[in-house]
Amino acid sequence: MRISYMAGNWKMNYTRSEALSLVKELLDNGSFKNKILIAPPFTVLEAVAGAVKGTDLILGAQNMSTNESGAHTGEISPLMLKDLGVKAVILGHSERRSIYGETDKIVNTKIHLALKHSLDVIFCIGETLEERESGLAEKIVANQVIEGLKDISENELESITIAYEPVWAIGTGKTATPEDADDIHKVIRKKIGELYSKEAAENIIIQYGGSVKPSNVKELMAKPNIDGALVGGAALKAETFIPIMEYNK
Ligand code: PEP
Repeated sequence: MRISYMAGNWKMNYTRSEALSLVKELLDNGSFKNKILIAPPFTVLEAVAGAVKGTDLILGAQNMSTNESGAHTGEISPLMLKDLGVKAVILGHSERRSIYGETDKIVNTKIHLALKHSLDVIFCIGETLEERESGLAEKIVANQVIEGLKDISENELESITIAYEPVWAIGTGKTATPEDADDIHKVIRKKIGELYSKEAAENIIIQYGGSVKPSNVKELMAKPNIDGALVGGAALKAETFIPIMEYNK
């Protein structure tokens, strides 16, 4: 039985006081029956770590360096994240891939490094609109799974959640239909079965991301292969994130 896992990616939003006030609202008014993670920006991780300590709200980061230390100006190492109390890291987000040129190989290197330092991973994949319209969505996503998980063992896979985020649905207000999303999740699960085992395919948690809102979360989560959501815009306010956290209350 896979648990429901809802994650909020705050992207480049919120100063310390804004972040702490959102966390307080989530903790005071939300329930944590499902697995819930928030990924605030690096600059507020320490403050938020203090606020979530001892609660069920999991602290994540939005990115991480390919290196542990050294001459990498502006980068953040997994050791620094661990030091702040971060438990998980989002890797391969489409904004990292498309704006900052992250390739499957870079994402794979980051996944290995995160796991080496016992950070859980939300591994993002998804096709562009052009790829979908050319009928390539399944092929692109399957290939991202193969390349991103290269040399990752079945044991290590237990620390990885896959987030399927069609690029054309992120921040656009367009959501994949639950049927379309579930079809791709099925492809991902099948690929995990081929690369690892039937059990690994059954156990892997696959989140959907792309304009998830209180109004569409229930129908998405009703699909058999959709186990959670990676949420951007709607994670920025308690009034929209709490109904997503509690979609099955
Ligand atoms: C995201 O940033 O991963 C995302 C899915 O954003 P939004 O929910 O705003 O589409």
